[in-house]
Parts: sequence; structure tokens; C-alpha cells
Amino acid sequence: MPQDPATPQTLIWVHHWAPGLLSFRLSRDPEYRFAPGQFARLSLRAEDGLGAVSRAYSMISTPADDFLEFYLIVIPGGAFSEKLAALPLGATVWVERQAHGFLTVDHFPGGDTLWLLATGTGLSPYLSILRDAATWSQWPKVVLVHSVRRAHELAYQDLIAQTGADPLLGGAHGRRLAYLPIVTREPQPGRLATRIPEAIASGALEAAAGLPLEPEGSRVMICGNPDMVKATRATLATRGFKSPRRGNPGNLVVENYW
Ligand code: NAP
Repeated sequence: MPQDPATPQTLIWVHHWAPGLLSFRLSRDPEYRFAPGQFARLSLRAEDGLGAVSRAYSMISTPADDFLEFYLIVIPGGAFSEKLAALPLGATVWVERQAHGFLTVDHFPGGDTLWLLATGTGLSPYLSILRDAATWSQWPKVVLVHSVRRAHELAYQDLIAQTGADPLLGGAHGRRLAYLPIVTREPQPGRLATRIPEAIASGALEAAAGLPLEPEGSRVMICGNPDMVKATRATLATRGFKSPRRGNPGNLVVENYW
């Protein structure tokens, strides 16, 4: 009999950030391998009493963790997210054996600053990338930009602060993590409130980071709302940023989060 392409894993932890916004952990098959920035295909199966449905979610957890952690927005009427959010602890979620995705740091060597641009749950892959020592040995400066509609959607702030202070990660001598939250529908003094492409075009993002965003020294990842990805990519193209292509390593990689 051919091997099942997925392994059954157990829902072991759920954390609610706000209504409709949650994180959850699954047990991890000891043979499951992934690079920070990659995503897993998760499925619910009819045999477990659930409608058969699958979705891709980026790992927040690191390859060293013995669990897989994900960050999820519950979409009203969403075939997967609504069912997952209703599962009790101990329920089964199937994880495809193979991890996927190209939003990984081996994609673009060189540069001195890594810019990680996200909206909403597009933050997920960066939380794994930021906790990878390889990221910090490649780029001593990392700028993390997280654009959300409302302030309560700024998840994982404690984890981000810990990572920036960790002496093995962003807290080592000569390294720096600039965390720039953007809240677009609840303007607050001292906080960026314009969308990512506009904040780049106006120079506000560079000013807030205290770092230049230019193709020689910067490497950029974009993940989240597909319209944001498209608009940001177009804005960066006017500055000379290019995706890897035909042997040219480029300085920009993107992932639509849905
Ligand atoms: P969102 O609309 O993606 O907004 C998050 C942030 O992105 C906000 O700061 C927003 O700014 C900004 N943004 C939106 N469109 C943009 C654009 N074209 N260019 C630049 N920035 C842009 O909100 P969300 O709460 O994360 O998700 C909203 C809906 O997206 C959900 O209800 C769901 O339907 C869908 N979604 C689906 C999935 C999925 O996996 N299928 C995942 C996440 C979200 P503004 O406040 O100015 O709009």
C-alpha cells in the first residue's frame, strides 16, 4: 500500500489573541523537516467526522521545537478555519509529510539588512525566520514590519521583543531588530498608520527604521494580503528591487498568504 502523504497529529494548544484570531500547536512527527519560512499543508478528514478540507499555513515554530505552531484568522464561513477553530484539544489534524515554500533565507545572499514586510497573519513565517541563528549570521540588521487594521491584532509582540534581546539572535553585539508595527485603522501618536507601500514611497518606513531600503544592501521578503504584496512589489521595483530569476539571486522574495 502506498504511504499516506500525511501524518495524523494532535491539537495540543490553542491561544486566542482576539475574536477570530488565534494560534494553535500540533504535535510534530519526529521525521517532519522544514526550513524557517516554509509552510505546511494541514487537512481535516471526513473519517475524523469533519469535512475533508486542507489549507497551507506557515510554521511559526522553529525546526528545534517538538511541536508545530500556526497563526490563524478565522474567516466567517471559511471551510477550514471555522472548523479548526471549533476543534477540541486532542483532535486530529493531518500534516502533509513534505513542507513547502521558497520564503527562506537561502534565496538571496549578500546585503546587510533583511526587511520582513507582513500584513495580518502573513507575519507567521517571519517568526520562525527571526529565531533562526542563520538569519542573524547573514544579516546583522533586521527590520520587521507588521501592518494590521487594529492594535489588538498586533500578535506575538512579546516573542518579537524576546528575539530582539536574545544574545544568540538579535541581541548580540552589533545586531539590531527594528520592529515597526503599523496600525492603519486606529491611528496612534508615534506609530506608523499608513499602508506599507505608501510608507515606503514616502520614506516614513526608512525613517522609522533608521536604515536605508535600497537594492545593494537590503534584502526584502513580503508576505500577506495579495493586494499588498502586489502593490509593495511594484513600489520596490521602482527602486530597482528584483525577484530571483534565472541564476540572478535578486533581492526580493514574496508570498501571497491566501
Ligand atoms: P487585511 O485587509 O489584509 O489588512 C491587514 C493590513 O493590510 C491592514 O493594515 C490593511 O490596511 C493592509 N492592507 C490591506 N490591503 C492592502 C493593500 N492593497 N496594500 C497595502 N496594505 C493593505 O486584513 P486581515 O484582517 O489580515 O484580513 C482581512 C480578511 O482577509 C479576512 O477577513 C479574510 O477574509 C482575508 N484573509 C484570508 C486569509 C486566508 O488564509 N484565506 C488569511 C488572512 C486574511 P487597511 O486597514 O488600510 O485596509
